[in-house]
Amino acid sequence: MKKYFLPLIMLAIFETVAITLWLTQNNIFYLFNFSYIGISISLGIFLFIKKYKYARRVAQLLVGLYMLVYLGFICGENMQIEGFWYYLFTGVFEAATIHYAVAKIFGPLIFGRGWCGYACWTAMVLDFLPYKVPETPRKKIGWIRYITFVISLIFVSALFLAHVGNIEKIMFWAFIIGNVIYYAVGIILAFAFKDNRAFCKYICPITIFLKPMSYFSLLRIKCDKNKCISCGKCKKVCPMEVDVTDNSRKRKNGTECILCFECVKNCPKDAL
Ligand code: SF4
Ligand code: SF4
Ligand code: SF4
Repeated sequence: MKKYFLPLIMLAIFETVAITLWLTQNNIFYLFNFSYIGISISLGIFLFIKKYKYARRVAQLLVGLYMLVYLGFICGENMQIEGFWYYLFTGVFEAATIHYAVAKIFGPLIFGRGWCGYACWTAMVLDFLPYKVPETPRKKIGWIRYITFVISLIFVSALFLAHVGNIEKIMFWAFIIGNVIYYAVGIILAFAFKDNRAFCKYICPITIFLKPMSYFSLLRIKCDKNKCISCGKCKKVCPMEVDVTDNSRKRKNGTECILCFECVKNCPKDAL
């Protein structure tokens, strides 16, 4: 029973959020939304414990497609960063702001970058590409993420300052066009740098929130130094180049761990 603790804890966290928002916002959508996401993520972790090879991909597709297709395309909710700015400026505590608060700002204090491993609809597609582990050295171009972050903020601020009408509709189209650009840039970079997660490492503006918050994450992979034989397999299979054998919070690329558990699966000594 002990090994099912993690999926049960995840389910409990999401159900707490679901019920709290349902009752405080008086909107049953939140009960459905966060219960669905919690069940999908817990199912992914449960399948992982059962050693199902594609466990993480199941959760990624269940959550990613739900958010992209249902919330984005069908409900017209802009869940990208410009949607977050938009709802923040209008003072509306609705889906996009709640989504950011739970998944990308405060949630990472508990589950780190679990969002990036199990739910993001951009990475959901990028993870199908052939370079699961980077085949070229890391580039020093992570500063690009600050530019994309500022551009998204300027874009939405400009719409408000210019008193543009029908911003809701512009936000819907920004979501569609933004996603097309993300996928195109993500796929091109993956092939150019031979690294599926190049977009996450250098371009994604959300990492401005995710990286500092996940530094303090409660949930993190740790190494049992008594078992470790320093074979280096964990680092060879890590898509984010995390120095996972270093238990300090300052470990190399520590704020990039997406909790994919590839290192854990491949450790010959069960040291992780
Ligand atoms: S870094 Fe950005 S694109 Fe990559 S998985 Fe996380 S949120 Fe998605
Ligand atoms: S794979 Fe396991 S044993 Fe090998 S270096 Fe990593 S933690 Fe140590
Ligand atoms: S392989 Fe391990 S250290 Fe690397 S991202 Fe996945 S869980 Fe984190």
